[in-house]
Amino acid sequence: MAAPSAAPQRIVVENAAIATVDANDTEYASGYLVVADNKIESIGAGKAPEGLENVVRRIDATGHLVTPGLVNTHHHFYQWITRGLATDHNLFNWLVALYPTWARIDEQMVRAAAQGSLAMMARGGVTTAMDHHYVYPVNSGDLSGAIIGAASEMGVRFTLARGSMDRSEKDGGLPPDFAVETTEGALAATEETVKRYHDASFDAMTQVAVAPCSPFSISTELLREGAALGRRLGVRMHTHGSETVEEEKFCHELFGMGPTDYFESTGFLGEDVWMAHCVHMNDSDIAAFARTKTGVAHCPSSNARLAAGIARVPDMLAAGVPVGLGVDGTASNESGELHTELRNALLINRLGAHREAALNARQALRLGTHGGAQVLGRADSIGSLEAGKLADFVLWKIDGLGHSTIADPVTAIVFGAAAPVTASFVNGRQIVENDRLLTVDEDAIARDARTEAQRLARIAAQA
Ligand SMILES: [Zn+2]
Repeated sequence: MAAPSAAPQRIVVENAAIATVDANDTEYASGYLVVADNKIESIGAGKAPEGLENVVRRIDATGHLVTPGLVNTHHHFYQWITRGLATDHNLFNWLVALYPTWARIDEQMVRAAAQGSLAMMARGGVTTAMDHHYVYPVNSGDLSGAIIGAASEMGVRFTLARGSMDRSEKDGGLPPDFAVETTEGALAATEETVKRYHDASFDAMTQVAVAPCSPFSISTELLREGAALGRRLGVRMHTHGSETVEEEKFCHELFGMGPTDYFESTGFLGEDVWMAHCVHMNDSDIAAFARTKTGVAHCPSSNARLAAGIARVPDMLAAGVPVGLGVDGTASNESGELHTELRNALLINRLGAHREAALNARQALRLGTHGGAQVLGRADSIGSLEAGKLADFVLWKIDGLGHSTIADPVTAIVFGAAAPVTASFVNGRQIVENDRLLTVDEDAIARDARTEAQRLARIAAQA
């Protein structure tokens, strides 16, 4: 006879404004949330049901808005130790300036950078993070293991997009020759990473995606074989696409077609694919994404920083394209935060005459939560607050100086200043309290990351 399972431990959150971000955008002016172990057991208006057993904690969330945890869909953690360089460059010039430094990273640097990137996002309400890591110098150690270890230590839900580059300068690509892998080596290492770390279960804390870097740093074979590998292993695929006019020109010159047609010709569009940026998309590109249900990671700050342009997010949403938000690497978005991207996405998409209806506060919140869950393939388990989903949620303080006079709670966190995070929970476990991480030492992370940034700068200067 099986032993009786332990009774679930419950956490009750009450007296909060709640934005569930469910399919109907259900909101409660004053409501409750009951967590049982790692799942949401019930949610609704008014007080929590009476007579709940095993309540280990009761939180009076008066003065707060509760939302799903934020989901980041595009990032490059290693860039945390190369912030503030090449600050006035476009994408291609910025890449060429930084590749020689990036190609000198090692395991210790990558661990420190991952901790910094994760900490910055997590204390701002990110509960699911991702890292598109594509720089694997020879003999640099176990970089994927270091990144996954940092996420696991912090208690953040995580997708590693195992990236790769095999088109260097000698093949007409942008990275230097010593910074790339062989096609076969990259594919084999990606497969091994999936087999070692990918967890397909409902409440998985770690998943892995197949993620060749970008059209100008990978061969057509790596793109095609990467898509085939992802489908054979049943995991998602990710890459960069349609970021700049220079990339579009590059694709026309080398492949005789634009980026979206190129991706489609290699099998790299589909409901199991999401792509970063998608700034330069014509109507037929957007239709191809909608038809194939390919997702988009919208990175407004990075696109502004590198003068890439403005992605057509309202048109994508109208066409039914899944869209999430991304910080992007912090060498092109030094802030490293996602909660401020809600506001940036809204403002950037409204730029231009008569665009006041381009994106509203609730759409921006949806991009950062449910939209992100969709593009990561996890909308069944995270991204909205509903009974049965995982307990990933944030308590935003909206009764302080920054927000107490803003008429509506969702408007307060999107239009207003970055709201303080009183508490953030991942998988039913609290990882942030009063803007500080509970799981790691932020000050030690800041010191270590600075030490590693200086070490990398020294090595790069000597090379
Ligand atoms: Zn990127």
